[in-house]
Amino acid sequence: MDLLTQALDSQDLDAESLAKLYDYDLYALGEAAHTIRTHYHQDQVFFNTNRHLNPSNICADSCKFCAFSASRKNPNPYQMEHTEILEQIESAYKAGVKEVHVVSAHNPNYTYSWYLELFRLIKTSMPDLHLKAMTAAEVHFLSTKFNRAYQEVLEDMLEAGVDSMPGGGAEIFAEGVRKRICGGKVSSTRWLEIHQYWHSLGKMSNATMLFGHIESKQDRLDHMLRLKATQNPNALEKKGGFNAFIPLLYQRDNNFLKVPRSPSAVEILKTIAIARIVLQTSPILRLIGRLWG
Ligand code: SF4
Repeated sequence: MDLLTQALDSQDLDAESLAKLYDYDLYALGEAAHTIRTHYHQDQVFFNTNRHLNPSNICADSCKFCAFSASRKNPNPYQMEHTEILEQIESAYKAGVKEVHVVSAHNPNYTYSWYLELFRLIKTSMPDLHLKAMTAAEVHFLSTKFNRAYQEVLEDMLEAGVDSMPGGGAEIFAEGVRKRICGGKVSSTRWLEIHQYWHSLGKMSNATMLFGHIESKQDRLDHMLRLKATQNPNALEKKGGFNAFIPLLYQRDNNFLKVPRSPSAVEILKTIAIARIVLQTSPILRLIGRLWG
């Protein structure tokens, strides 16, 4: 049986074997991925209207791929406070936004209660606005800085009104690469543990993968398999689990990671198709279909 058929049969293949799917023609991969996608979603597409808000770019970490945090390559630090954040979110809400996505750099000036107070203010003022906030990297930062267990941070977020967690900070799980591109950030194991605990509270989250830098194709497959292994069986019922897999293409400009070239358009499309094939038996597939349909 050839590899694509084995993968479509959801046979138990490792990352090294699955990375060979890249040797297939894009059309063969695309056709297989499209068949899976239409099986789950027919010709429907899904989207929401949301507003991203990043309270600060002042960061205690220094990920090499980052073009956002204040540094030599971005000498414009900023730090928003509650009033300004509320004004911006309320303005978006009045314009019809249904979800707000609040993710910040790891600002050492904000207190623990600053975050919780912000979430309470948002939910008090706009109870039906979906509040997606706090990556696992931020949860780890607060846990470390304020000496609180992950569980305590996550339960406090829940109590303060956070509806779901975004998928940032996953980057690439392969430890060797992770150490080179973002060595100070939450480890892969801890990132997955934080999401698992959030899922156990009955809540949903997303999962990203930063690709197209110094990782190998095998590292991408390893990343997908770790997410698949972590998925909660209740995800389809929305009772906790990953809601989305979001492959993010690394952007080469304005950062400290030297990458000579980006993947070709064909390789990018193959990555998306392979993700659909590899994650097909996992409820995580639902949003792959949504995002890329
Ligand atoms: S944690 Fe890393 S990616 Fe996030 S803002 Fe700080 S330096 Fe950038």
